Parts: sequence; structure tokens; C-alpha cells
Amino acid sequence: PKNMTSLIMIFGATGDLAVRKLFPSLYRLFQKGKLDKFAVIGVARRPLTTEEFQNSVKDSVLTALGKKENIDEFISHFYYQSHDVADSGSYQNLKNLAQQIDDQYDLEGNRIFYLAMAPEFFGPIALHLKSDGLTDVKGYKRLVIEKPFGHDLESAKVLNTQIRQAFSESEVYRIDHYLGKEMVRNIEVIRFANAIFEPLWNNRYISNIQITSSEVLGVEERGRYYETSGALRDMVQNHIMQMVALLAMEPPIKLTTDEVRSEKVRVFRSLRMIKGETINKYFVRGQYGAGLIDEQQVPEYRAEPMVDKESNTETFVAGKIMIDNFRWAGVPFYIRTGKRMTTKSTKIVVQFKDIPMNLYYQPEKLLNPNLLVIHIQPEEGITLHLNAKKAGGHLDAQEVKLSFANTGIHAMNTPEGYEKLLYDCMRGDATNFTHWDEVAYSWAFVDNISEVWEKTKAEDYPNYESGSMGPKAADELLEKDGFFWWPVT
Ligand code: NAD
Repeated sequence: PKNMTSLIMIFGATGDLAVRKLFPSLYRLFQKGKLDKFAVIGVARRPLTTEEFQNSVKDSVLTALGKKENIDEFISHFYYQSHDVADSGSYQNLKNLAQQIDDQYDLEGNRIFYLAMAPEFFGPIALHLKSDGLTDVKGYKRLVIEKPFGHDLESAKVLNTQIRQAFSESEVYRIDHYLGKEMVRNIEVIRFANAIFEPLWNNRYISNIQITSSEVLGVEERGRYYETSGALRDMVQNHIMQMVALLAMEPPIKLTTDEVRSEKVRVFRSLRMIKGETINKYFVRGQYGAGLIDEQQVPEYRAEPMVDKESNTETFVAGKIMIDNFRWAGVPFYIRTGKRMTTKSTKIVVQFKDIPMNLYYQPEKLLNPNLLVIHIQPEEGITLHLNAKKAGGHLDAQEVKLSFANTGIHAMNTPEGYEKLLYDCMRGDATNFTHWDEVAYSWAFVDNISEVWEKTKAEDYPNYESGSMGPKAADELLEKDGFFWWPVT
């Protein structure tokens, strides 16, 4: 591997993301010997000594991984700087500390700035990094930026303009943590490494594709943020659209960052743009009511902390996305995501078209179509649904399932995704980060929908029970096309 020499500055180092994901991920990389020369400066508001900070890093690793080999050596690479994001003096101090650590560890002026903070600080920090000289380095400089990238296309443009004053597009690593997931990365391999899928991967053989990303949890303590966001912005604009792009893109001519990302952009450019009244034919929104989860009664969304009693915010979205290009014309990509659903699961079901004539028709049962199921989380794997002869008896067909389970990684919320993304960033590989063009196109698509939803109050909220798979209208969306949601539980 090339240059893993880096000074990593984490802004928001006392926050949830840093503690739950980033420190454990760095520790794993360290344990695997993937960090060559490195140091970390934790930056946050709270006054802490470096020793207190190192102890919090240690706690975070122990809590997440329960390990402690070489932990003291690991945390000795961590430093802390109390910081006010709006104050130039703060950045001067940080610059001096960075220079000193750079010299001490011989980090060759390579810097990664990781913004694990509330999004309103992204732009101002990027501007200060430049104006206060932190980006004047002889090595590389990279900015890692968390979601959400703006609230809509307009605000995303403003943010992007601020960032681009300090970093070029190739230096910006926009995190979509779904792109760190093993099975999301596997989509392209399944597609482009198999002779039995690649030739069938088009509108001649695929009838529809279904993406479900369901959560059991409600909004928890995130009510204040969620009220300004909703499921469309929080899940569809980024994670779901990224999965659509990976499923739909043309084979890239090479696996380079530019080639892969430009194929994804072409998918976004082919999206059928729906507007105004038409969106009601394509998209359905929902908000959870009270219900039973694990035999416990849970409250409706509107009764959650920091949520408006008459909130119009959607906690569920289902939609039909059409990609109007030669490969996909006529094939619906159905998507759904929501909170307080039956199960926590992210799955993709690719439904193949029926065979031309069915010899094995049973009066009481039709043949099942072939399905390719990609299990993204919590299980990771692939299941292929085929029809085969039922053992014994007549020539009856029955469904058989060929399954591959990626058993290496069981636990949900493991830091593996972030570990891969951090490592990619250190290697300078931006393939699994979103390019500005992807962000812009998917905001443009989503903005049309939120515009209509914000203008019209949903009269039927709450319209699905906690513990269900969403409102009835989400089922009807497929029924009117002659399809149904394949069960994901
Ligand atoms: P958090 O509220 O837990 O942490 C915020 C951090 O910012 C703290 O370290 C705090 O000290 C620091 N901070 C706040 N105001 C400051 C100021 N004025 N000056 C200096 N420091 C200040 O937030 P989080 O959950 O860690 O999320 C951070 C980012 O990551 C957000 O953009 C969020 O959307 C994104 N994100 C978080 C998660 C997650 O699992 N927590 C997942 C995906 C994306």
C-alpha cells in the first residue's frame, strides 16, 4: 500500500460519531498494521487535556471492541485541542499544534480534516481551514465530510461553493456510509463478474427491482433534526439513490474513481424527473402511529420528544423510480424506507421476468419468478430463488433457494464501514465517496418531491402502525403495476 502517513484532525471529537465509529475504526486499522505513520488531533468545544482525551479514546475502543492489545501505544498518537469553530485564534493554535505534531511524527505534511460535526459548521470550518493557513501543506490535504450534504439543492450548492474555496473536488470525500458496507460494494462485483447475471441485467429480463431499508427504531432523541429532514432527505437522497445508481449503472471501462463515478452520474442524469401532481403517482409518504414493537407499546411520531404535535414530517417513503435509458426503460425501481417498521433490514430484490410459457403450472399456485436477493444488513449475503423439480412424485416444480451468507461480520453497527472509508481516504481512493454531481442530481430529484409534500399537509397522518411495513398506499403503488413487495422479514 502507498502512503499511509497522515495527520488526521477530527472536528467533533467528543461527539457520538467519533466515539462510536471513528476511534474504533482507527484502532482496527492500527491493529492491522495499516497505519504507517499517523497522529490524530481531536478538536471539539469542551476543554479537555490530551490525557483525558486519550482516555476517552481508550474507553471508546474498549466499549466498541472489548479489546486492549497495544491500546496504550495506539492512544499515544492522539492529541486534543479545545476549539471554537468561529474564532480565527483557535485555528492559529490548531495550526501550530499540527505543525509541531507533523514534525514530531514526520507526517510529510499530509492532512485529513474529518468534519464529524453538525452540518451548519461544515462550510465555515472549510473556509477557516484555508484562511487560517491549515491547508497550506506540502503533502496532500483531504476533507472528509459527513451527511447531510445540504438540505436541498440550493443549500448544497452554497455549502459546496464554500468547501471548494479550500479544497478541489478531488480532495473532497463526501461520506455516504452505505458505500462502506460490504454488500453495497458487492453489487458491482455480483453484476460485473458473473456471466449468468450481466447479460440479463436489463429490461429484457428484469421485471422490477425492489430496495427496502427498514428500521425498527423510532426517531429517538433526534426529533429536532428529523423534523427538518424526514425520510426522503435522510435516507432517499443519499443511501437509497446510491444503491439505485450501483444497480443501474453501465459497466465502467475501468474501476477507477472517475470512471465509476461518471457511470453513476449517468444514471442520475437518466432519472425520470417527476414534478407537481404527478409525484402522487410515483411516491407515497407515511408517518408512524402508535403500535407494538417487541410486545411493547410505543408512541406515535407526533408524541415523540421535540416533534410538532401536528407534524407533517414523513417517517416513511415508498416510491417508484424510472430510469429512462436504453437498458432500463420500463423497469420500475421500487424503493421504501421508514422508521418503526417490522424489522431492521436493508435488502435488494431483483425480480426477473416470467419465462415465456409455464409447463409446470399448478392450479393452486403459479411458478415463482426467479429472484436475486442481495442482503445488505443486518445479514450479509445473496440468495438466488430458482425453480426445481420437487423430489419424488410428478414433474411438479418447487422453489429452491441458493444462499451465500457472509458470516464474517455479524453485528450491526460495527465500525467496518467507517474503517474501509477511512482507509480509502488515506489511500486517496474516492470511488466510494459521492461526487458533487451525484449529490446535485439526486437533490434535484428529491427536491421536486419535498416541494409538493411541504406544500400539502398529509391529512391521513399517522397512516401506518408502528411495527408494520408502512401505509397501505405503499402496497397499492406496486399492485397497480401488477407487482407486490417481496417479503424481507
Ligand atoms: P454530536 O452532536 O454527537 O457531536 C458534535 C461534536 O461537535 C461534539 O464533539 C461537539 O463538541 C462538537 N461541537 C459542537 N459545536 C461546536 C462548536 N461550536 N465548536 C467546536 N466544536 C463543537 O454529533 P454526531 O452524532 O457525532 O454527528 C456529527 C456528524 O456526523 C453530523 O453531521 C451527523 O449528521 C453525522 N453523522 C452521524 C452519525 C452517527 O452515528 N452519530 C451517523 C451518520 C452521520
